[in-house]
Amino acid sequence: MQLIDGKKIALEIQDEISVEVKQIIAKGGKQPHLAAVLVGNDGGSETYVASKILTCEKVGFKSSLIRHNSDVTEAQLLETVHQLNNDPDVDGFIVQMPLPKHIDEQKIIEAIKPEKDVDGFHPINVGRMVLDLPTYVSATPYGIVQLLAKYNIETSGKTCVVIGRSHIVGSPMSILLAKNTPQGNCTVTLCHSKTKNLKSHTLNADIIVCALGQPEFLKGDMVKEGAVVIDVGTTRVKSSETKSGFKLKGDVLFEEVAPKCSYITPVPGGVGPMTIASLIKNTLLAARKEIYK
Ligand code: NAP
Repeated sequence: MQLIDGKKIALEIQDEISVEVKQIIAKGGKQPHLAAVLVGNDGGSETYVASKILTCEKVGFKSSLIRHNSDVTEAQLLETVHQLNNDPDVDGFIVQMPLPKHIDEQKIIEAIKPEKDVDGFHPINVGRMVLDLPTYVSATPYGIVQLLAKYNIETSGKTCVVIGRSHIVGSPMSILLAKNTPQGNCTVTLCHSKTKNLKSHTLNADIIVCALGQPEFLKGDMVKEGAVVIDVGTTRVKSSETKSGFKLKGDVLFEEVAPKCSYITPVPGGVGPMTIASLIKNTLLAARKEIYK
């Protein structure tokens, strides 16, 4: 079994990006700028946004954080999006999800200019991804594709099961793995909460991507020998063992599944760091105007 070290690969990507940023600035170009909008003070969202800002600093990007209280109105949040859309210094920005219930997330996503939508959530960017057009691929599936590439994991002709069909992870992941690309050409089955006898699908899979948000859902007896298992799950569970009072749990029961795998991602240190590295990569694409020329 080989552990897929997402932390190491993400650091390598950051190093490559920081070299490029230095070159851009040396040639008199503008420092790439990522802005993040954070609504309320949910612990998970605070942590994710703080990591994104820290990574910006590490690679030499400019970053801005725009905070709103959880009682911000939809109109006020749309105004912030509008300002960022029209700020020539901001290359790309994200609105950290989830948003409070009184705000229509889809309306906010659709208000972001596709050129600045470095999360790749806007319908235009999702559509471009489906149609093989240049786009910002949403960060988590993009990160997983890069991990498969870095570890030279063969995907062509493989049987793949994706568990979870969310718009940000499972659905785009299933599309990317089925594409006629070096990290595609899988025969993909997309499973969800209505799937019957899920184990019969996972037992047949060469590659399993677990993105359902149910800690330790995938057990050893659900996986065949030699499978590649990608664990996207990050659920914060209470823990007396950590200073913060919680720890992150993946969707895979690691102790049982890992011994059967050819490759597996750990949680933490697998997919998570790659999500941030991919967001930064998308921001560099935005700064270079590579997608929307
Ligand atoms: P989500 O929007 O809640 O979607 C969960 C999906 O899992 C749904 O499609 C749901 O099916 C399916 N599901 C739930 N229970 C199931 C079951 N028992 N059997 C089969 N399918 C089941 O979740 P998400 O946003 O995709 O996130 C999934 C996990 O990944 C979460 O733990 C999240 O924190 C984590 N995540 C991690 C990163 C990272 O960077 N590491 C990034 C994004 C998300 P239905 O559609 O039928 O309801």
